Amino acid sequence: MAHEYDAVRRKLERQKQELLARAAKVRADITRSSGPLDKDFAEQVVQMENDAVLAGIGEATAAELAQINRALAQLDAGNYGLCSQCGQPIGERRLQALPYSDRCITCAEAAR
Ligand SMILES: [Zn+2]
Repeated sequence: MAHEYDAVRRKLERQKQELLARAAKVRADITRSSGPLDKDFAEQVVQMENDAVLAGIGEATAAELAQINRALAQLDAGNYGLCSQCGQPIGERRLQALPYSDRCITCAEAAR
């Protein structure tokens, strides 16, 4: 198989490491802030809001990680760069902007 996607793979793996580091940091923050809540109620609310924000970041990070893992699996399987809906090539420029994209621009815009 050609090595045309070596750069993409490196990019995806670097992104994955960054996301994993970010996720670990978010988890550490949640663990720290989910200790016993302050007795002062206003302080409790602030703490809970912070947890929600951190959990939100975690979800977005998890979704991005899932997309990166799927793209890496496609690289391994040799079907990277093909639209998951119509099977057409996604296009080099779109893949450069969004390496873990799984749909061509036509399908992505149709789904909007
Ligand atoms: Zn498509």
